[in-house]
Amino acid sequence: MNRRQSLGQHFLISESIAKSIVDYADITKKDTVLEIGTGKGILLPFLCHAAKKVISIETDRELYFEASKKFSNFSNLELIHGDGFKLDLEFTILISNLPYSESRRAIEWLAQKKCSHAVIMVQKEFAEKLMANEGKNRKAITILANHCAKIEPLMDVKKSNFSPPPKVDSIVLRLTKTHQISKDLIKAVNRIFSYRRKTIHNIGKEFGISVDSNKRLEDLTNSEIIKLAKQINKN
Ligand code: SAM
Repeated sequence: MNRRQSLGQHFLISESIAKSIVDYADITKKDTVLEIGTGKGILLPFLCHAAKKVISIETDRELYFEASKKFSNFSNLELIHGDGFKLDLEFTILISNLPYSESRRAIEWLAQKKCSHAVIMVQKEFAEKLMANEGKNRKAITILANHCAKIEPLMDVKKSNFSPPPKVDSIVLRLTKTHQISKDLIKAVNRIFSYRRKTIHNIGKEFGISVDSNKRLEDLTNSEIIKLAKQINKN
């Protein structure tokens, strides 16, 4: 896999979809919008028009320089070259069309941030993981995402709307933030899921706590799993 592929560089080419994504974000002139993954900047004119300030981060040096030249006329735009998940910036709304390989990292990062909401485009398969109902299909990321945000699917985007086209279709989601959680809690939820076949009593034992329950993870609600993770962290 070359660098461009590993960075998920499938650029959106539909202006009307770009406009819809920005419209769905309900941006006002009070908002600071953070975009992770500038790419060729298809969202930028719409974002700059709607927001007080736009900060757009791109990890690919060449794309960052291209965007700096192309969008120098927007006075409310700050372009940054770097890894969007390593910078500590304040913002009210996150907009991102990220590669599949970064989606999980994006959700865990967002779970720790204080902001109003996010509009993100993810591959269908990942969206299905996020929106899995109670029970066996849930992963650690399902629990984290649903604890930290209310998740709503907004629109399907066919692979033909990207250049080069990816292998699968995508979905635009809105995540309205409800909770901000710590890195330690995220770690505990992930560790709990590494023992997903054990009973809750035996999972407790792995972490040195006593839990009187013969249920399994699939029998617990999302909030019961978060409660268990909090209990583990207190220990
Ligand atoms: N926003 C553009 C669009 O909608 O066409 C680009 C989307 S493209 C799927 C994802 C972009 O994110 C690529 O340009 C890639 O280089 C960039 N990227 C990947 N990981 C990143 C990271 N950790 N921080 C900042 N940019 C990243």
